[in-house]
Amino acid sequence: MTVVALTIAGSDSGGGAGIQADLKTFQELGVFGTSALTAVTAQNTRGVHGVYPIDAQGVTAQIRAVMDDFNVGAVKTGMLFSANIIQAVAETLQSYGPSALVIDPVMIAKGGASLLLDEAVQAMKELLIPLASVITPNIPEAEVLASMSIKSDSDVVEAANRLLKLGAKAVVMKGGHRRQANYAEDLFLSAAGERFTLRSEWIETKDTHGTGCTFSAAITAQIAQGKTIAESVITAKHFIQAAIADGLTLGGGHGPTNHWA
Ligand code: PLP
Repeated sequence: MTVVALTIAGSDSGGGAGIQADLKTFQELGVFGTSALTAVTAQNTRGVHGVYPIDAQGVTAQIRAVMDDFNVGAVKTGMLFSANIIQAVAETLQSYGPSALVIDPVMIAKGGASLLLDEAVQAMKELLIPLASVITPNIPEAEVLASMSIKSDSDVVEAANRLLKLGAKAVVMKGGHRRQANYAEDLFLSAAGERFTLRSEWIETKDTHGTGCTFSAAITAQIAQGKTIAESVITAKHFIQAAIADGLTLGGGHGPTNHWA
């Protein structure tokens, strides 16, 4: 049986992040990918040159078109941009009953461009995070969502617990912005009490564009195929580690992680 996943995210014309990374990852992991675009970005490896949001009605219509016709095994969200779009996504998904939902709370591109308006943070916390099967913030995103600064291991645990309190069933705190000696460490925590860390060797590379999108898409593909959240996170971690190690030197800026890892 063909397994289907849905990504609700922004387009990256450079092909390394966003919808394009999600669909490539779904394909690579044996899942048929469908998509609802929230925004089009004019973007390449050097940065984001423009953001053109889709109106909320258009986002809703895309989600409905997919959900009404396919048996969607898991959904992920990436760049959502505005409070209006977040509200539309949350209401539309809820109207179909609970689905496995992976939230990558995309906020700022590596080059500094804003992919989520400040006004949208509250909507993400109140409307969307309570629907999450798992949320995958990096440290700067977790700091915004948990309203605290993160400097130590105990801060990471505290912030993760705050995200669980917002209603997410599980959280992966990605450690890529907090380099340890020669490794990075992610923390997995679930509302059901599971807890583990995933440690991986630090890879020195500039070609990491789309890492977060690819990781969350890999989790989504695994969940769609029937794995538990924890199993999905562990498998996705192996996938993204290999993808970073095999990053592509393309363009003049940050090349993409390799989706054919
Ligand atoms: N563009 C889009 C549409 C995205 O969804 C993302 C994801 O986070 C990015 C750009 C940022 O990519 P990165 O920060 O990995 O360069």
